Amino acid sequence: MPKRRYLPAGLLRQIAIRYRLFGALILISLLPLLVTGYISWAESSNAIQQKSRLFATEIVKQVAKNLQLRMADIEAGSEALVLSDPVQAALARYAGDSPAEQGRARADLTHILLANYGSFQDVDQKYFLTPDHQVLDPQVFAQLGQGVGDFSRAAASRKGRPYWGTLDLWDGQQSIAMARQIYFKSDNQLAGSLFLGMRSTRFSTIFDNVNLGAGSEIFIVDLRAGRRLIQSNEGAGNSVAPALLKQIAAAARNGETTGHLAYNAIASGATRASGYLAVYTPVPRTNWYVVSTLPNDLLLAEAQAVRDDIVLIGVISFLCALLMGYGIARSISSPLERLAGIMREIKPGNYALRMHDEGKDEIALLAQKFNEMAANIAQSHEQLEQRVAERTRDLEQANLKLSALSMTDGLTGIANRRRFDEVLAAELGATLQRAAQPLALLMIDVDYFKAYNDHYGHQAGDACLRQVTTMLHQHARRASDLAARYGGEEFVMLAADTDEATALALAESIRAALEQLQLPHEGSPLGHIAVSIGVAVLPAGAASGAEDFIRAADQALYQAKKQGRNQVVLDQH
Ligand code: GH3
Ligand code: MG
Ligand code: MG
Repeated sequence: MPKRRYLPAGLLRQIAIRYRLFGALILISLLPLLVTGYISWAESSNAIQQKSRLFATEIVKQVAKNLQLRMADIEAGSEALVLSDPVQAALARYAGDSPAEQGRARADLTHILLANYGSFQDVDQKYFLTPDHQVLDPQVFAQLGQGVGDFSRAAASRKGRPYWGTLDLWDGQQSIAMARQIYFKSDNQLAGSLFLGMRSTRFSTIFDNVNLGAGSEIFIVDLRAGRRLIQSNEGAGNSVAPALLKQIAAAARNGETTGHLAYNAIASGATRASGYLAVYTPVPRTNWYVVSTLPNDLLLAEAQAVRDDIVLIGVISFLCALLMGYGIARSISSPLERLAGIMREIKPGNYALRMHDEGKDEIALLAQKFNEMAANIAQSHEQLEQRVAERTRDLEQANLKLSALSMTDGLTGIANRRRFDEVLAAELGATLQRAAQPLALLMIDVDYFKAYNDHYGHQAGDACLRQVTTMLHQHARRASDLAARYGGEEFVMLAADTDEATALALAESIRAALEQLQLPHEGSPLGHIAVSIGVAVLPAGAASGAEDFIRAADQALYQAKKQGRNQVVLDQH
């Protein structure tokens, strides 16, 4: 089954090893860091937000409780007052028919209020009202009297229990107001009501020891009026971010009590809106909410510090990974590149190249094996070249031998007909060289040789031919003389620089020498081995073709045979 190829592997192979390793190291070092960094950042910012929310919730609840205690305090004081005998008595007198008594009762009640609340700087308004909500103090401004009357009317529904709210004053100020109906202890009939209007400073100590950090605020908002009622730090204005107000109002409508929300608002002095977290809790029996706001920046500052640390660590480890990756990638890719480079260079036949093979890794092993292989190849290559040289030498010698053989007659060992043809053609061709020299050709034929073969046998004939050859050889003394077997029992001798007289003398000495040997030949009328010789001489400066020259010698030979054999005849043409 063919090995399956995965697409990414194929794609990765397009990228150099160095960059692949590089990428892997960076991924390995950075990915976990980024993931854990993100998680811890998200977790820490969540935890911080949650912690802050819980903390702020506790605080607003505590502040709401403080406020209620303060209110309860005021309520208790007012209850003691309205149930006190002087108040009950004065109200009873006022309820009577005597106008004089009524006037005195009014004066008494004013005194009582002054005695009770006159020492409080922050209690601005203090009035008794008739059951039909008329302020008893005749000196009260009509507008204020109207407002106080209306407030008292609203409190009537609470049947004697204190009612809290705000009273808008003529100058844009508002009072935190409490009103309660007064009943006669004797018959439980409605006697009138008590109104107390206070400045917010009366309650400012409820924020004592409350510190949520710079940028955060804690205040009490009046949902009906849509503004701050009481706040911890003076001078912050009494406006409330509309988005915040809207969301708290919506929560109040849904019956939610304590809760938290996120909103955007433009901080004083800022140009852009920023996010806030708000925690709120209602003040029972009122339209009021204790609200604490915290800017997200502040909340997340700690988480952001964690995030910045993570980013810094990330950058440092990225740089480390980059350095390490570079080093590791180079340690792997460089030797591979060198190996590839050396292999490229080896291709043209440079087998002496070697890799640096120190180390214990796979690449070092590869390099060692490569070096061994290169050494083997180099050795084989050298041996091959040696062998080729040897073979070439052998071949040359064989060729020499072969060409010598092809020029030599097998039986007699002297030059053959082919060699003779070559030399003769060369001699005849070299006219300029031998212009001043005559050339002699002797054509030698053994007499009655057929009969010798017939009588002594073919092998004896061969031996006889060799004896004739030896003899011829002895007479071809000069280097320029050539004795050759022309065919059968016919021989030729070519003698350069040889005139007719010399040629005839040479032929005669050959013939005489053979006769002198007296080799027996019973089949011949001569009784011994003899030769007939035809001589042709090409005079100096003359030109001739090889065929003509040979024919001339042959005709002379024919003449010698005709005249009785065992003689020399010179060609006369
Ligand atoms: P002549 O030349 O005197 O006229 O007579 P001949 O007997 O020599 O005549 P011819 O030239 O016809 O005979 C040549 C003979 O030489 C024929 C052949 O048997 C013999 N012969 C030729 N070549 C060889 C050879 O290589 N070995 C032997 N043993 N005999 C050869
Ligand atoms: Mg013959
Ligand atoms: Mg013959």
